[in-house]
Order: sequence, then C-alpha cells, then structure tokens
Amino acid sequence: MGSEARKRIGAENGRGGSLIGLLSRMPDEESCARWLLEHENPGGWRCPRCGCATCSPVRGRPHSFQCTRCRKQVSVTAGTCMHGTKAPLRAWVAAMWLASHSRRGVSGLELARVAGVSENCADYMLRRLRAALASPCAHSVLDGAVELDDFYVGARRGGVGRGTRKSKMIACVEEAEPGGRRGRCVIRSVEGIAGGDYRLFAHDHVCRSAEVHSDMWVGIRGGLAAWGGLDARPFDASDPVASLPVAHHVISNFKAFLAGTCHGVRDLDLQSRADEFSWRYSHRDSDDPLGDMLAAACAGRIRRADIPGLATAQPEQPMMGHHKPRRAVS
Ligand SMILES: [Zn+2]
Repeated sequence: MGSEARKRIGAENGRGGSLIGLLSRMPDEESCARWLLEHENPGGWRCPRCGCATCSPVRGRPHSFQCTRCRKQVSVTAGTCMHGTKAPLRAWVAAMWLASHSRRGVSGLELARVAGVSENCADYMLRRLRAALASPCAHSVLDGAVELDDFYVGARRGGVGRGTRKSKMIACVEEAEPGGRRGRCVIRSVEGIAGGDYRLFAHDHVCRSAEVHSDMWVGIRGGLAAWGGLDARPFDASDPVASLPVAHHVISNFKAFLAGTCHGVRDLDLQSRADEFSWRYSHRDSDDPLGDMLAAACAGRIRRADIPGLATAQPEQPMMGHHKPRRAVS
C-alpha cells in the first residue's frame, strides 16, 4: 500500500471519521474481514506459502481467506487479540473505535448498547483489548522533562499519608515541548512507594537522560539518585497542583476515569485500566488512533491467562442479553 492509500485510510478512520461512516463501509462480516486484512497487511497481502497477491473468502469459515493459487487458508483474527472470537468483527471494530476515540474510554455496558452484543461479551472484548495494550505500555520509556508522583486509589482501608493501605500507584508524565509534540504518560500499580519502588519504576520507564521533576520526599531523592536530572520541588499542601501541574492533571483525570467510566475497579483490574488510560493519553494527538489501536490489537494473541481478574468474567456469548448494570466492588 502506497502513501496515498495510507492517507486515505487515515482520513477515513482518523479524527475526522465517524463510527457510523466507518461501519457503513463494511456492512457485513466479510467486508469487515477484508478491511482487517487490508490493515494487517499495509503493503498488500501476500500468501505466506507461495507469495501470490490475491485471495478470496472461505465459505463456511468466517474471517478466513484462501490463496487463489495454492489454496493456503489464513484467518484475519489468528494471532491477534481477536483470536478465536465468537463476537462479530463489526463489534470488535466498534470496540476499537470507541476505546481509541472516546476521551473518557468506553464501558462494557456502553459497548454492549452500541455493538448489539451482551454485556458479558462486551466486557470480555474490552478485557482482551486492554490486555493487548499492556505490552506497549509496559515498554514505554519517557524522556525529556517529566513529572513523577505517587498517588492512591480505592476505598479507605486505614493508614494515613504514604502509610495508607489503599492501592498505590506511580505516575510519570512528559511535559509538552514548547510548540512541539505533547507528552506521553505511564501509570503503574506498585507494591509500595519506598525509594526502591521508585527506582524500579524509573528503571523501566524513565530515560536516564530525562529531566525528572518530583517532590522533595527523601525516598524519591534516594531512589532516583542515579538520575542526574532530578529536580526536587517543595510540596505546598495549600496548592498541591502547583508543584507538579502536569502529573496532577493526569492523576485527577485517571481517578475521574476510574470513577466515571469504570465505576470503581478491583485491585486486579487496576493495572489494565491504567494501561488503557495511559495508552489513550499518549495517543491523544494521533492522526489515526484507530490504526494505532489496531496495530496493538494485532501484535499478538491474548490468552485467558494474559487477562488479569478473569475469575468472574465469562467467555464471549455474543447474543444480545439484557443490560444489567454491575455493582462496583470498590
Ligand atoms: Zn498461496
């Protein structure tokens, strides 16, 4: 596929495109599978066995195409987070569009209503999508001027300050370059927030050359001693946002996402929600957010074992069910 075709796809799927417009171009499962085939092979499809460039749909095998020369069959969902899915591909496209375009993310209930699948099915699809986003987020390394801070989420469980028994998280956010690209963020759920926890986090996610802004807590200064650009800022309790404005802005948006879209989250699901939020924040200026999400979704197969907190989630049952809102655990 040439640059013209890339531009066309970007314009159709990108910020200017609508979900209705996108789905109207793929009225059935076969056209949807074709669309996926085109996106998974941006240079044009080639048979993995004989190199032939043409294929046709396989009757009776949904999502599959057959090479017109050697009859090798390939599935567009094999090796992706949609591997073995029973849900319609159109529902998957709707899920990816909503999860990548919506500023506040999408809940299982909303997706069930839009895509016409049961809430269990929608919930399971979104869990698979979040699991697909985990890898790019886990390997994200931030550079330039970054702000770093810890925070707590969940119901009160005793303890105060850094001794709280709430779930502990560390957030790192790149400051926007003047007139340049806007920053990315990483949010990780951590066991504790001692200096060693900060060091481990920074080892995975903060470039050594970064200019790190954080508060003056002694644990942070000790943990990040190896990062030469550490700038400890005094914390003003009367105006907590003033010292680290970008990090605090992201943290408050993440908490609003947990409360507003997720209606509370179990500890087991916290990291996958953080990955979804971080991914969307980091791609908020992308020209083709759906294409970016699709690339992550197609990067590898997701197994049940890859999805945290599956004890209560049911495998996909694509038939439409009644929408019964679930109670949040915390
Ligand atoms: Zn072939």
